[in-house]
Amino acid sequence: MSLFQSIEQIKEQFSKEISGEFDFEQLKVKYLGRKGLVAGLFQQMGGLTSDERPKAGKLLNELKLELTSEIEKLAVDSSVTDESTADSFDYTMPGDPQPVGAIHPLTQVLEEIKSIFNRLGFSVAYGPEVDTDFYNFEALNIPKHHPARDMQDTFYVKKDVVLRTHTSNSQIHNMLKHDPPVKIIAPGRVYRNEDISVRSYCLFHQIEGLYVDKNVTMGDLKGVLDYFAKELYGKDVKTRFRPSYFPFTEPSAEMDVSCIFCKGKGCNICKYAGWLEILGCGMVDPEVFKSVGYDPEKWTGYAFGLGIERIAMLKYGVEDIRLFYEGDIRFLRQF
Ligand SMILES: [Zn+2]
Repeated sequence: MSLFQSIEQIKEQFSKEISGEFDFEQLKVKYLGRKGLVAGLFQQMGGLTSDERPKAGKLLNELKLELTSEIEKLAVDSSVTDESTADSFDYTMPGDPQPVGAIHPLTQVLEEIKSIFNRLGFSVAYGPEVDTDFYNFEALNIPKHHPARDMQDTFYVKKDVVLRTHTSNSQIHNMLKHDPPVKIIAPGRVYRNEDISVRSYCLFHQIEGLYVDKNVTMGDLKGVLDYFAKELYGKDVKTRFRPSYFPFTEPSAEMDVSCIFCKGKGCNICKYAGWLEILGCGMVDPEVFKSVGYDPEKWTGYAFGLGIERIAMLKYGVEDIRLFYEGDIRFLRQF
């Protein structure tokens, strides 16, 4: 039988085979495999004359292409008509849920606080987390060997360079850059060399507030902070101010809100006092104005600082500060 006859014969054989029952994989190997029928015909080309060879090569290549495309078509058909596959796909089933991220509770609280103060005309400013002794202490009326330095356990990067212990350094940066009036809030991370416990961590977040203008009074400060507390915790919340001490404000005060859990009746969270301390504040000390070149005879101002973790713990009833930093999604998913 000539090679040309063999080609025709293989074509017929193939059509016959695919019209009946066949095993798809076996069919592929039988015709197109490395030792298959088509490969066998290619080997026979050696016995042809040089006139016949080009024609035979062309026909064989066509045969190979034809069978390949037929087999590919059969592969597609068999996957669609395969009953087990068709049955197992249920178009009415809901899709697989994909995990969705959420905003960290500290960020949520920060955004809320920022939006309250934005409505009161405060703009947002930032200060560096690594800063010099001057910005973190000296200019805030905390000279070297001042006892107030012991109130804050400081991380020193090197001599006279610290991880800031409070966001109050932003006050100095801002006042040195701008002439009064100044009305800013400055959020950010602060660092204290403290033992890690349920109540304290080596880093946390604060928001600093600063307003400098002519004739600013303690009454203005109380009004703004009372408004803030009511926006944050609800209209029924009461505030009170207790005298306190900070080196950079005079007079200084701490603000309490009536306990948001027991409405002031007394519970274990407020330690039966009915009040919760939420921030420190006061009138800017004239010494601070002097260190940034503001005339304390002309300008007055108030400042306040609050811990975002503290606010968030009270807002969500979280009892362990460490939960905010552990990245445990079982905790984070609750917000
Ligand atoms: Zn209470």
